[in-house]
Amino acid sequence: MKGVLVLLALVAAVYSAGDFSGYQVLRILPVSEGEVNLVRDLENFENLQVDFWMEPSKPNRFIDIRVPFYNLQDVKVYLESNNIKYSVMIQDLQYFLNAEEREMKRSRAVENSRSTDTFNYAAYHTFDSINNFIDTLVAENPNLVSKIRIGSSYEGRPLNVLKFSTGANRPAFWIDFGIHSREWVTQATGVWTAKKIVSDYGKDASLTATLNKLDIYLEIVTNPDGYVYTHTRDRMWRKTRSPNTGSTCVGTDPNRNWDAGFGGGGSSNNPCTETYRGRAAHSEPEVKAIVDFVNSHGNIKGFVSIHSYSQMLLYPYGYTTATIPNQAELNTVSRNAINALASLYGTSYTYGSIISTIYQASGGTIDWTYNRGIKHSYSFELRDTGRYGFALPANQIIPTAQETWLALTKLIEHTRDNPY
Ligand SMILES: [Zn+2]
Repeated sequence: MKGVLVLLALVAAVYSAGDFSGYQVLRILPVSEGEVNLVRDLENFENLQVDFWMEPSKPNRFIDIRVPFYNLQDVKVYLESNNIKYSVMIQDLQYFLNAEEREMKRSRAVENSRSTDTFNYAAYHTFDSINNFIDTLVAENPNLVSKIRIGSSYEGRPLNVLKFSTGANRPAFWIDFGIHSREWVTQATGVWTAKKIVSDYGKDASLTATLNKLDIYLEIVTNPDGYVYTHTRDRMWRKTRSPNTGSTCVGTDPNRNWDAGFGGGGSSNNPCTETYRGRAAHSEPEVKAIVDFVNSHGNIKGFVSIHSYSQMLLYPYGYTTATIPNQAELNTVSRNAINALASLYGTSYTYGSIISTIYQASGGTIDWTYNRGIKHSYSFELRDTGRYGFALPANQIIPTAQETWLALTKLIEHTRDNPY
């Protein structure tokens, strides 16, 4: 009997993406620069294994941290002894992840993935399942959709991009999802969005007009090694999976790895942190593949990179407080987009430049695309505002994707009509 239990435990360990029982997410509100720095110092106590869900930035801006059960007491004592205010956002992270896992199993049991009409858009899917969806969508719509492999991940997985096109050599609009692998609602939104485009083409006047002028590219799983890792080993994995010379810590933050203010504030040179920028700009094959694609395409007019969570629509810059030349334009378009988004379910977004709205972040995707000449460059932080954070329940996937599509449509239409 004991042997059977040990075997079951081993099987569970192989198939579960970590055990976060008793892990909490704390929301901290620092009220001074000194308190911000004290919280930031938690990152340097590596034995505490604090994972920043929302990075420290400035006084009166909250910081979310995930803390292992066995370090909760130490972290809380540290905060309390420094008189830093916090509350418990998530009591037990594993409770949410158990619900997520049950929902995925239920979905797999009833799923028929041979048609994109019967695909379960209200569930989270594995990398293989998403790739099957991609191939099925292409097979069903050969005149509208094709699959392009723009490169390979560090571990050799395909970097697949869906191209929606009704003619040759059109200017293009790019959207990527899941460059941070644990942000599962983003990849799921990408899948729904791909199906939405093929469903609406020829029926919806605006989308049809768009696809008669622009090609649309979607990279649904932009960090596949990380995404597979979130399903097999660590649900909360954010970075790539490339090793770091001289360190046992793995991975680079692919949203700090771009050649735009590379190495500046809001990125780390410590491979053990979540915002490690990598040894050099474009060191990560997942980033380099997009850089090469954008450069060789030469006619990408709009670029959106999708993250979660925080409910924000952001434009450049993240690495500097300098304003972009067309800030007024992007600001107006952002306002229109978040109003459209809110019209469906009342979901409230904030918007503005990255550095003024969320925090300084150097080496980010859309700062690079903007400097490369893509004047319509935006980034989303999808649902929610922290109630579930990265563990957003699957029943919020479709509403999230639906409302996001309304905002994306505004950005795409504006790009279509003002391509520069
Ligand atoms: Zn992210």
